[in-house]
Amino acid sequence: MNTAIINGQPHQAHTSFSVTNPATFQVIAEVSDCGPEEAARAIDAAAEAFTRWRRTTAYERAQLLMAWRERILADQSNLARIMTSEMGKPIKESEGEIAFSTTFLEYYAGEAKRIPGSLVPSQFANKRLMVTSEPVGIVYAVTPWNFPASMVARKVAPALAAGCCFILKPADRSPLTALRLAELWHEVGGPQGVFQVLPTSNAAALSEVMMQDARVRKLTFTGSTPVGRLLAQQSAATLKRVSLELGGHAPLVVFEDADIDLAVEGTIASKYRNAGQTCVCANRIYVHADIMSEFSRRFTQRVEQLVVGDPMERTTDIGPLVAAEAVEKAERHVEDALSLGATLTTGGNRPNRTGHYFTPTVLQGVPASALITREETFGPVAPLIPFEREADIITLANTSDYGLAAYFWTHNLDRVFRISEALEYGLIGVNDPLPSTAQGPFGGVKQSGYGREGGSWGLDEYMSTKFVSIGIK
Ligand code: NAD
Repeated sequence: MNTAIINGQPHQAHTSFSVTNPATFQVIAEVSDCGPEEAARAIDAAAEAFTRWRRTTAYERAQLLMAWRERILADQSNLARIMTSEMGKPIKESEGEIAFSTTFLEYYAGEAKRIPGSLVPSQFANKRLMVTSEPVGIVYAVTPWNFPASMVARKVAPALAAGCCFILKPADRSPLTALRLAELWHEVGGPQGVFQVLPTSNAAALSEVMMQDARVRKLTFTGSTPVGRLLAQQSAATLKRVSLELGGHAPLVVFEDADIDLAVEGTIASKYRNAGQTCVCANRIYVHADIMSEFSRRFTQRVEQLVVGDPMERTTDIGPLVAAEAVEKAERHVEDALSLGATLTTGGNRPNRTGHYFTPTVLQGVPASALITREETFGPVAPLIPFEREADIITLANTSDYGLAAYFWTHNLDRVFRISEALEYGLIGVNDPLPSTAQGPFGGVKQSGYGREGGSWGLDEYMSTKFVSIGIK
């Protein structure tokens, strides 16, 4: 039994739930199924721990974050295997995700030492005006299954750097990576009650306790827009600070002056990473009509070279999708596009093997009415859509309820500014398919949520500003 981690101790709940490997359909673990009782216990422990943790120096917190980073790196291949077996990510990507996660620990270990404060000039000679930053308090974090380590690291690193205590509810499909991260935190001497992990198969029941308790001051959520909206509503009762990293539907535009080979490689990286199961992956690929046939030929050729296989093999590029519904959704998007006149240039089916697999797919001539042009596919399906005029593409790209990531390929400097200023998205990759880093702000606009992770913006989410006005003689 994989136990929860409450107040620094393994905790066995009354019941458990199973975690299944999507590549083999085998149950790989039984995990403690936490409920309201565990939620209340964790809040009590966090409240107790916070009285001490908030008083540690930034240097102590930084040292612990760096020690945790080293320990995670030493455990990288084990953590990657855990991740791959619980959610199917190809092993080389899982290893990359663990390394990426540690960049947040390193970055925020540094940021802890630069937490801002200032003395503001007063208009009175006998007053001093002091501004300080304080930790928000107890943080409740809810994370998705598609990045079981980095979605946690992006939140926990700034929260702990700021001096907050952190209670994590990981996704029920992939709780094992998070539990291992918490074990490693305690192995390097992380104080009890500062980072707790509560897996559950009933997120709503556990969350209700968290959302109703006024001691929990902050909600940080990454996941789908409907659940984010629900949690935002629930958080109103106790007026929690809220950050929401929600769904996306990224446009990727290839202009006629782009370097086609770079654009093809960039589109492969954006679309097929994690088998297309990322919030920032290209969901609509607009290619200028003048270069469409050449782009489509080279792109299809590259997609056909992607190796679909056992995610534990280093040669595998595309592993299984997370669950049967994910395969059904990819299939539905392909069938819908084909019924509306699109054509397949490759893929479009389930390969003949055990596991939730879908073959990397390219669709051409996808009409604007197709489902895939507005719903997140979360699968390895690339719809190519031609365009002719720059003005049209801005409208098309912005025609989405979401506003998380957008990409474009061009070597025209004026166009770089014109398009990046016109796109209504929080994150833009210009000739860059992977714009997410520890030091840059990551987050969306519109139905993709609010709040930022990364950089000083990510730290601000976990701090409150205090103003002290001091009269002196
Ligand atoms: P999801 O919304 O179904 O689940 C996310 C988390 O919310 C899980 O931990 C789940 O257990 C929990 N949850 C579900 N119902 C809940 C409830 N009623 N109360 C409290 N918690 C609840 O999303 P998912 O399928 O795990 O992840 C995929 C989605 O996440 C996609 O929409 C994707 O775009 C989005 N995502 C966004 C980002 C980002 O940074 N913006 C990153 C990764 C994924």
